[in-house]
Amino acid sequence: MITIVGAGVIGLAVAAQVAGKYGEVYILEKNETFGKETSSRNSETIHAGIYYPEGSLKAETCVAGNALLYDLCQQHGIGCRKTGKLIVATKDEEVGKLEALLERGKRNGVKGLAMLSKKRLRELEPNVEAIAAILSLSSGIIDSYALMKYLLNRAKEQGAEIAYKSKVIGIERLSDGYEVTVESGSKSFPFKTEILINCAGLNSDEIAQLAGIDIAEAGYKLRYCKGEYFSVSNHKSRMVDRLIYPVPEPSSGGTGIHTVVDVEGRMRLGPNAQYVDEIDYKVDESQQGFFFDSVKQFLPFIEYDDLAPEMAGIRPKLQGPGEGFGDFVIRHEQDKGLPGFINLIGIESPGLTSSPAIAKYVEGLVSKIL
Ligand SMILES: Cc1cc2nc3c(=O)[nH]c(=O)nc-3n(C[C@H](O)[C@H](O)[C@H](O)COP(=O)(O)OP(=O)(O)OC[C@H]3O[C@@H](n4cnc5c(N)ncnc54)[C@H](O)[C@@H]3O)c2cc1C
Repeated sequence: MITIVGAGVIGLAVAAQVAGKYGEVYILEKNETFGKETSSRNSETIHAGIYYPEGSLKAETCVAGNALLYDLCQQHGIGCRKTGKLIVATKDEEVGKLEALLERGKRNGVKGLAMLSKKRLRELEPNVEAIAAILSLSSGIIDSYALMKYLLNRAKEQGAEIAYKSKVIGIERLSDGYEVTVESGSKSFPFKTEILINCAGLNSDEIAQLAGIDIAEAGYKLRYCKGEYFSVSNHKSRMVDRLIYPVPEPSSGGTGIHTVVDVEGRMRLGPNAQYVDEIDYKVDESQQGFFFDSVKQFLPFIEYDDLAPEMAGIRPKLQGPGEGFGDFVIRHEQDKGLPGFINLIGIESPGLTSSPAIAKYVEGLVSKIL
């Protein structure tokens, strides 16, 4: 039996991948339904895989996941649009950074990348102001709820079962698996599983700790990095066609305030990146000036009053403020004395894009255990 903790896009993708092949599959989710946390509080961008160091899990699963997602969407009618994306330089000193990004993207195996002149950029997006840009043709957007619904249905069709309002509160190692204690309403009950897969998102470090891992020593302690969004609530929300991103500031914790266009073509702006101690999805209205200042150079048509606070998500990060690159942790923890226990920790962006590739990677680990 395989038990998956968490019904976000990662837990559901893993369930859809392993169900029907390795015995019974159960998904335990603490909320009343699937996808109520980070998987429904993000930019819904299908990333190309430009930003991440060559050979990293983020780079490899993003590039593979990008292609897998478009295939899934096409085959199963999941809403998505290959909008294309522009990463724009507004200052001379950013042009070198763009060139470095382009090279990194190519090394990562991203197809459909090109450097655009100012003239070509104007032709493609007449309302965007920049001196140079990378065009990424394989970037796009996806209806993440529809993706998760599809993954859940697929897992169920293959025999997987899901239990909502079922919070994992204890994990005990047995000689042939794990006894998992689940809290459901006012009751708690134990059950046994051979394989336990931790896809608990913002709580994945706690689940690792419940299994007996020293998370400080293992480098698994999560830091919460909040990202807020502001909507563009008038006709200006349709003044760009593509996703428009600034040149990222590596220490900022995100990819910079960018446009997000939903499947209906409406634009919003976000996310910022602020480390927080608590999970709280309120949007700080005083950030409006920061959002306006961040985009006014490349979206000169935006005025301060066009913006309205919208929503927020929280990144489960393994790095603190100003720290360098941190990769996904996707590990069978046999060497920590936990055979059959698989951790997925720090699955921040591009986790949505990477989800089908992460699921295949996890299946590779499962197939070696069973
Ligand atoms: C602001 C922001 C923008 C982003 N933009 C993008 C983007 O544009 N493109 C992209 O590819 N990625 C993006 N991401 C990343 C992407 O959203 C995440 O990588 C992905 O959603 C992670 O999914 P998950 O299933 O790991 O986590 P979650 O969706 O958080 O799911 C984890 C689940 O585990 C459950 N759980 C936790 N603890 C327990 C427990 N003890 N017992 C039972 N269940 C438990 C939770 O209730 C939750 O449902 C963004 C993230 C953020 C925050």
